[in-house]
Amino acid sequence: MFRHIDLKVLVVIGTVVGIGLASLVGFYSEREERDVLAQNKRTLLKLVDSTRQGLKTLMLSGYGDVGPVFAKSLDEVPGVVDLAVVRPDGSEAFADNRTIDRVNQAVGYEMFYPREQENPRERLQNHRNQLREVLSSGKLAEYYDERGDGERLYTLLSPIFSEPVCQECHPAAEQVLGVIKLTTSLARVDADIALSRLQSLLLLAVILLLIVAVIRLFVVKNLVRPLGGITQALRQVSQGDFLQQLSRPPHAELSMMVDSFNQMTQRLAGIYSGLQAERNKLTTIILGAREGMVATDERGQVVLVNPAAEQLLGKSAAQISEGGLSTLFDDPEWIDGRLAAARSQVPEAAVIEYNRRTLSVQLATIWDDIGRTLGSAALIRDITEETVLQARLEHESRTDPLTGLYNRRYFDQQLEQELRLARRYQRDLALVIFDVDHFKQFNDRHGHDQGDRILCEVAARVREGLRSVDVFCRYGGEEFVIIMPGIGIVEAKAGAEQLRASIAGLDVDGLSVTASFGVSAGQGEARALLEAADRALYQAKGEGRNRVFTANPE
Ligand code: GH3
Ligand code: MG
Ligand code: MG
Repeated sequence: MFRHIDLKVLVVIGTVVGIGLASLVGFYSEREERDVLAQNKRTLLKLVDSTRQGLKTLMLSGYGDVGPVFAKSLDEVPGVVDLAVVRPDGSEAFADNRTIDRVNQAVGYEMFYPREQENPRERLQNHRNQLREVLSSGKLAEYYDERGDGERLYTLLSPIFSEPVCQECHPAAEQVLGVIKLTTSLARVDADIALSRLQSLLLLAVILLLIVAVIRLFVVKNLVRPLGGITQALRQVSQGDFLQQLSRPPHAELSMMVDSFNQMTQRLAGIYSGLQAERNKLTTIILGAREGMVATDERGQVVLVNPAAEQLLGKSAAQISEGGLSTLFDDPEWIDGRLAAARSQVPEAAVIEYNRRTLSVQLATIWDDIGRTLGSAALIRDITEETVLQARLEHESRTDPLTGLYNRRYFDQQLEQELRLARRYQRDLALVIFDVDHFKQFNDRHGHDQGDRILCEVAARVREGLRSVDVFCRYGGEEFVIIMPGIGIVEAKAGAEQLRASIAGLDVDGLSVTASFGVSAGQGEARALLEAADRALYQAKGEGRNRVFTANPE
């Protein structure tokens, strides 16, 4: 209900002070009421005393019959409602001839004239107890009544004691001759008390208002305003304005709070500017990266597309965002499968052909520190040139640049490979080595370039005569070697014979060369096979060149 601290403080303090003041006012007004009533009682006692004295004087001077007139005159006193003299039996004195008759009879003559009109009345029917109490104790009694209209009445019953002089007319046995009943209205007293209460309440209300106003001023100035300033500054901070600094209030507690706030905003500003710098760097990297980057949040909504991704995929950022990660390429199932796999492990980059380019695609799940999924990301790299370059390097690494044949390195690998296959499938494998005859002389006569040209022509001519499964390599200089899978020594020798003839038949710019051949076959060691073929070649050279010799591996 009270959401504001100043109101709460006011309500609490106001309630406590209010209760305190009300108790104080209650205490004093009750005391005042008692004082007023006591004062009233004192006044009435004086009135009763003077009434008693008046009555006594009247009685002793023999004017007892004037008593009722006297009592009636007292009724006229303001505030007096009823004043009567009541006999011990409760009947009203001076209202009948009972006492007159008795006295006249006692004295033997008509001392008092009987009343012409008697009006005997019973008094104190409802207050017999109080009457008995006065008669027995001889002390005052009092009681309160209420009239039909709510007016309070106060009655004093005061005893009239018998004196020796009284016994001339009254029986000696009667100690108390009767009581004076004096009833007054408390209307004025009550009005005074009510007025006093009202004034007290008004005073209380004014004091309370003043106290509340002063407390409110204090609370607003010392608590609400400084707190409001801090709250306002915090709101600014929550909206990203970290440069908020507050001036220190005079109170120690709030000063500490303000100091902490200022330190916090200073640190926040530092952290924020650091983060901004990092973010700027990252943004620059992401925007400038040659790799395409697409990232989603945890609901799969695309939140990042960099220009490289747009270019590589041939789509706008809006199109990519609309389609989501699944439709980055042509096959959504493939992507979804890899994304699912990426949730449990870091998958290898996949190489795909897309948009006539070769792309390396890495899909990954983005986790936070405590292992919750923040989203997914695709990193796309164009590896077209790289792939082409790699293929060219691979080609070059196994190719002789002059003739375009396989080189010796490739030959060594392939010979081992083909031998393994020959052994596994129990098939023959033949090796043919040939060397151009007197090539040194050829070079010397026709020049090195011409030598190169003839080497190229020899290579081309021999290649024409080979099967696709044969592996033809330049072994070094003017020496060549052919792996012939699935062919035995006889067949290989025949093939080599044909090759020899085709070389011998070559005509390059009117020039020609011959070559000597060594052939071996088997499934054993590569070195043994090579040595056998080399031996056969050496033999062919020795036997006059331009011929084919065979040898078996040892
Ligand atoms: P033989 O009949 O005994 O084989 O005699 P040859 O002269 O061919 O043998 P040798 O080993 O003495 O000489 C080989 C020559 O081959 C030496 C070198 O000039 C030549 N040669 C090696 N590689 C190349 C090449 O790439 N281009 C050219 N033009 N000549 C080469
Ligand atoms: Mg040679
Ligand atoms: Mg040679």
